[in-house]
Amino acid sequence: MTTLRTIAEVRAATADARRDGRSIGFVPTMGALHEGHLHLIRTARRAHDLVVISVFVNPTQFDDPADLAAYPRVEDTDAAAAQAAGADLLFAPSAAEMYPDGFATTIEVGGPSERLEGASRPGHFNGVATVVCKLLSIVGPDVAYFGQKDAQQLAVVRRMVTDLNLPYAIQAVPTVRDDDGLALSSRNARLAAADRERALALSRALRAAEASVAGGRASAEEVLAAARAEFAARGVEPDYVELVDPITFTPLPTVDGDALLAVAARVGDVRLIDNQPLTRNGSH
Ligand code: AMP
Repeated sequence: MTTLRTIAEVRAATADARRDGRSIGFVPTMGALHEGHLHLIRTARRAHDLVVISVFVNPTQFDDPADLAAYPRVEDTDAAAAQAAGADLLFAPSAAEMYPDGFATTIEVGGPSERLEGASRPGHFNGVATVVCKLLSIVGPDVAYFGQKDAQQLAVVRRMVTDLNLPYAIQAVPTVRDDDGLALSSRNARLAAADRERALALSRALRAAEASVAGGRASAEEVLAAARAEFAARGVEPDYVELVDPITFTPLPTVDGDALLAVAARVGDVRLIDNQPLTRNGSH
């Protein structure tokens, strides 16, 4: 695996691959790689000739400077893990490479970005959309892989790619969890031992909602009550617990067709999110 720092180097490498008829898979990340990221890389590895991964802690998507400062940066271990999972190229640019002096463009996706994470973290999805658009344009992949873990981000990226006619396929990859159900996240490393236990409120809330739907209770009121009880049981105050349409991220009154339960909570100093797709007959 080769580590590249400049946009010009990535463009040259991917142009070579395209000229040789090789397909390109791309996995954008902010590093501190865990099994969730590695699952994305392995999925891309199975489908493509060239697998590109980016590690860039994008400053413009952080609304909280303390969160940006505390975000883990472990490039050496990331490079080893990405290589072991099958990546060919690691793009690790500086902030100045991505945002040189004079940079003045922001992509603002409306619709699915407006509520939940968009409301809790002003400007977050503008930062995400802008950097993802830049990375897609730099790498030019056939397929870019995103985790279901960040379901609203996935919906925002899909909306942007559709609206701007970007010629890249977007593929979702299921959420990877610890054995006890906690969704893997680079932020989990910052959880104190007692908070690690309380953090299970999120995944337990999703399981309770699933059980509620499987038991025939499909109104948002019933599903959300089942989920909220799991937060209350652990003394965790959720930022939000909502039943939404997985494409528009607008609230749904019932689980009827595709629905998504989305949850967020601050546990100790760490803000965590999770979600579960739901259908009338349970989860999928
Ligand atoms: P991040 O480094 O947090 O920006 O995440 C990079 C990519 O990995 C995003 O597409 C995330 O949705 C995905 N990802 C993060 N955590 C997980 C997980 N537990 N399971 C699957 N994908 C994940």
